[in-house]
Amino acid sequence: MSDTVVTRFPPSPTGFLHIGSARTALFNYLFARQNGGTFILRIEDTDKARSKKEFEDNILEGMTWLGLEHDAFYRQSERTELYKRYIEKLIEEKKAYVSEETSDTLKRSSVIRFKNPNTKISFPDIIRGQVTFDTEELGDFVIAKDLEEPLYHLTVVIDDFEMGVTHVIRGEDHISNTPRQILIAHAIGAPEPEYAHLPLILAPDRSKLSKRHGAVGVTEYEAMGYLPEAIINYLALLGWNPGTAEEIFTISELIEKFDLNKIQKGGAIFNLDKLKWINKKHLEKLPREILHSKIKTILTKKFQHISDIFLDRLMPTIMERIETYGDLEKMVAGGELDYFFIEPSYTPQALIWKESNRENTIKRLTR
Ligand code: GLU
Repeated sequence: MSDTVVTRFPPSPTGFLHIGSARTALFNYLFARQNGGTFILRIEDTDKARSKKEFEDNILEGMTWLGLEHDAFYRQSERTELYKRYIEKLIEEKKAYVSEETSDTLKRSSVIRFKNPNTKISFPDIIRGQVTFDTEELGDFVIAKDLEEPLYHLTVVIDDFEMGVTHVIRGEDHISNTPRQILIAHAIGAPEPEYAHLPLILAPDRSKLSKRHGAVGVTEYEAMGYLPEAIINYLALLGWNPGTAEEIFTISELIEKFDLNKIQKGGAIFNLDKLKWINKKHLEKLPREILHSKIKTILTKKFQHISDIFLDRLMPTIMERIETYGDLEKMVAGGELDYFFIEPSYTPQALIWKESNRENTIKRLTR
C-alpha cells in the first residue's frame, strides 16, 4: 500500500465494550499493524446525556486487557472548537443552515441542517462491493443541535478527515450512515476513505445476538477466566478465515495472515462452545511456569501447602477437565478436588470388619 494506512476504533461510551465492538477494534488494529500504519482510539462522547465515564473506563480496560494498543487517542468532547469552525464554514458557504423548528408540543427551537444536494452516492465497499444509495429521501438532515453541539455524522467525518483516516472498518449497521457521511465529506472537501462494512454477528439460531448466547462484555470474559489471546483468536474468526483448516493463531500470526479482502458478507455466528475450545487450546500453549503458577494461585485459595511435585502430578487431571480458569474455580468451589488435598475424616470404628477383633483393629489403625 502506498499511502500510510490509518484506521480508527471510535466507540461511543454509552455501554460496556462488548464482543461486537471488540471485533471491530481488532480488525482495525490488525489492518493497521500489517500495513505498518496507525491505529487510533477515539472516544465519541458528543452525546452528553448517554455518555458515561464508567463506560469509557470499561472500554479502555477491555482494550488494554486484549492487548489492542493504540497509537493515538482522542476524545470528541474535547474537540468542540474544531467542529464549531467547520459548522460556521458550512453555514457561510451555504452548505448548511440554521433551521427554526417547532416540535409537536409547539416548543420552538433551532437546529443546524445540512443542505442535501440530493445526489446519488455510490462507493466501493471492500467487503460488499459497489454500494449505491439515493440520498433524496434523507432530506436536509440535522448535523448539529447548535454550534457547540455537533452530532455523530458530522463529527465522525471531520475527525476522519483531520486524523487522516484512510480505512473505515466498522459494523454493517453503519452502512446506511455512509451516504450521509460521504455527502458531508464532499462538503468539507475531505477525500472519501475506503470503507469495509463487517458482517453482523448472530446467535447460533441466526437471531440477534444477546447475553443469553454468551455475548457479554469483554471484561466479563476476563472475570470468567478466559485468556485474552483466546478472545482475540476467536474474534478474528468472526467473519474471516485464513482459507485453510488452521484455527489457532497468536496475535502476531493474525497480523501476518488477516486479510480484509477475505471477509465474508454473510452474518458471522457466535458460538460459545467454539470460544471455549479455542480457550483450551491457548491454555495448552501457555508456557509451563505461567500455567502452573496461575493454577496454583487458584488452588491455594482453598488448599494450602501445594508442592510443585504434587502439582505436576495433578496437572493432567486438571487440564483434562477444564476449558477456562473459571472451570477450575468452579471445580474447587464445588469440592471436586477435595480428595486430592484433604485427608478424609472417619472414625477408626467405622472401619471394623464384622469378623475381626475390635480391639486389634483399632490398635492397628491408630498405630
Ligand atoms: N461512535 C460510533 C459507534 O460507536 C462509530 C461508528 C463509526 O465507526 O463510524 O457506533
